[in-house]
Amino acid sequence: MTPLSRIPLAIPDLRGREAELLVKCVTDNWVSSAGPEVTAFEAGIAALTGRCHAIAVVNGTAALHLALLASEIKPGDRVVVPDWTFAASANAVAHAGATPIFVDVTEVDWALDPILLSKALAADRTIRAVIAVDPVGHAADLDSIHSICRQYDVVLVEDAAGAIGGTYKGKPCGALGDVSAFSFNGNKTLTAGGGGMVLTDDAHIAQIVRHRSTQARPGADYIHDAVGYNYRMTNLNAAVGLAQLERLGEMVSAKRAIAARYDAAFAGRTDIKPMPRPDHSESSCWLYSVRVEHEDAARTLVRTLQEHNAEARIFWRSLSQQAPWQGAPRYLNGVAEALSGTVVSLPCSSSLSENDQDRVIAAIDVWRDSGMAAA
Ligand SMILES: *Cc1c(COP(=O)(O)O)cnc(C)c1O
Repeated sequence: MTPLSRIPLAIPDLRGREAELLVKCVTDNWVSSAGPEVTAFEAGIAALTGRCHAIAVVNGTAALHLALLASEIKPGDRVVVPDWTFAASANAVAHAGATPIFVDVTEVDWALDPILLSKALAADRTIRAVIAVDPVGHAADLDSIHSICRQYDVVLVEDAAGAIGGTYKGKPCGALGDVSAFSFNGNKTLTAGGGGMVLTDDAHIAQIVRHRSTQARPGADYIHDAVGYNYRMTNLNAAVGLAQLERLGEMVSAKRAIAARYDAAFAGRTDIKPMPRPDHSESSCWLYSVRVEHEDAARTLVRTLQEHNAEARIFWRSLSQQAPWQGAPRYLNGVAEALSGTVVSLPCSSSLSENDQDRVIAAIDVWRDSGMAAA
């Protein structure tokens, strides 16, 4: 009997022209941080999101950092971060010298809670920006959040790192913040190997982002007019990103089909609940995740899948509870704490076969039938 192959959690799907475009970079001698593929990738992402400006950078964290700097966030300012997100959202605030203030998420969409956000902004006039995260592939309630931000005259940064291909009320994720950010890390739907993109319609912000991402050097000689960063994406990464962009529609369709099959398999169950798909958003279904009843159930689920040679992982945990942020201000309602340890991501690469997905579903049935789901 041949051993069953290992089913990974979320790996790159490189079945397009990635190798061809990489070879072209080498042949054309454009491998570093300028080149036609960087320009074409920026133009492609701007077109996808309908944005006036797209600036390619080394990763999503750098994109968020520059988005904050260009929005004039300074040391001493406070920036709202959802309590349930990837650490990068809060780290970017710290990189800008500002202080994250953690606001909880809702049960309904696992994204920033507009009511709590209003409370935080009314109480704390040192808040200068809000980072709204589009979690697992769908959008936060960005109309509500945007109008609250306008009311208090604070900048809205959309952390759409994992949400490329998703929409909010018909508009693309990445189009909805004053400044938005994508990540092209290896586990995202579209990867560039590593990379990020800053998106905005504001020419001034775009100019600052571009300038700061290349050591704040106005010309070709060694004159600098600010503290800069070495954050530009290389042409090699852009070549991979560009090849991926050609297949984005196909990859998102595959992710949605995988999500629909999982949803059908878990329909009516109480031990395992599919991730939210709020009415306001069509999810890209980036990282298919489920909620289980408690952390022991999550641990046994991951272990059972491991025993069946499939990779699963307990997802984000409340950031305000973690070591770097013990003293950070917070507005919490218990949701992020309840999600911590009880959300598990399942294999959902866009290249996942139906056969392998059936193996995952069968392993989850073993977990249920063993009683571990309820124990
Ligand atoms: C992936 C991710 C990031 C960070 O992107 P990198 O490219 O890994 O730096 C930031 N925020 C969220 C919500 C993410 O999922």
